[in-house]
Amino acid sequence: MTIHAANFRELKLDKLSRDFGSFNALKEVSLTITKGEFIALLGPSGCGKSTTLNLIAGLLPATGGGIWLDDKRIDQLRPEERGFGMVFQNYALFPHMSVNKNIGFGLKMRGVPKAEADRRVAEAAALVHLQGQTEKLPGQLSGGQQQRVAIARAIVVEPPLVLMDEPLSNLDAKLRLEMRAEIRRIHNTLGATTIYVTHDQEEALSLADRIVVMREGVVRQVGTPEDLFSRPDHLDVAEFMGFRNTVAGKVTAVNGGTAQIAIGGATVTGRVRESVAVGQSAWVAIRPEDLHPNAPGQSGLVANLVSTEFRGREFVGFAKMEDGTSLSFLAEQKLQPGATVTLGADPDRVLVFTGGKA
Ligand code: ATP
Repeated sequence: MTIHAANFRELKLDKLSRDFGSFNALKEVSLTITKGEFIALLGPSGCGKSTTLNLIAGLLPATGGGIWLDDKRIDQLRPEERGFGMVFQNYALFPHMSVNKNIGFGLKMRGVPKAEADRRVAEAAALVHLQGQTEKLPGQLSGGQQQRVAIARAIVVEPPLVLMDEPLSNLDAKLRLEMRAEIRRIHNTLGATTIYVTHDQEEALSLADRIVVMREGVVRQVGTPEDLFSRPDHLDVAEFMGFRNTVAGKVTAVNGGTAQIAIGGATVTGRVRESVAVGQSAWVAIRPEDLHPNAPGQSGLVANLVSTEFRGREFVGFAKMEDGTSLSFLAEQKLQPGATVTLGADPDRVLVFTGGKA
């Protein structure tokens, strides 16, 4: 059997589509992934991340477009011919087999001689720090250890491309953090190419070289974590990247890269992300941690305080503007519900978009 992915330079999704009946789950997704990259597919539930991964893996046929490894079309090939490693959310280890046997299963299926298989299993177990655990059964391991077995099982066959679908979602917060670092370390050690599905923006930001933000079956933006964190191209991407306050207003001035937006009686200045013209409607987007009560006498977004929550180091305030728009902001102290607050942000931390919310 030929494993087509060996020594590839580029994986290309070309207008890849997938329909389920009349529902277009994936709409002409195009993306080029270079060998060695760690790519995160990020987006809200139902946006098509898993569908994309399943199409790449060959677990699901495409209804349009193609998948290419360099100049070879692979979307008609069976999963085993593509030779990609896979780690999924439900890692389904064989419960009656030891850790060693679980890890070595793929090698056995491929007919790798026993001595070589044993050596590779031992190496893979060491890579995921499971030495000393290899005679145990999966039921005798913690969740994180089981997940490591799943990773070792995927990488032992030395796949040129590793596909991971929310592999950490069943783990508790501490283990998730530990395994996150492990996954990146293993990627670096193997020089692998990894495509990693997650709905957790923090996970994507910390792991990926490039993030692909998806929404409703389309790619909305592709960029480095830094790009997506501070320069989202669209309002929905901004919201997903933590700019949770989005407020509509009218453009009163545009000055190079900044614009002034009139909202209620206030003027908010921000960085233009989608070009706007004076008189147009526009949206501003601000992260809660960048929005704070203004000094007395300063103008700002006027809102009525609903509640404050203590977050350890600071308080987060929740307020409602007269038109019902909700705002969350950083407060240094507990505030009285019902109080009027006037909120502002550094113009550099405010983004301006034309697009409304879907
Ligand atoms: P999640 O994070 O919740 O797993 P996702 O972004 O991975 O979401 P997909 O699993 O790719 O989303 O699903 C994309 C869309 O396609 C969803 O609206 C889903 O309901 C739909 N879908 C997926 N599989 C099927 C199926 N077998 N039949 C019908 N619809 C499906």
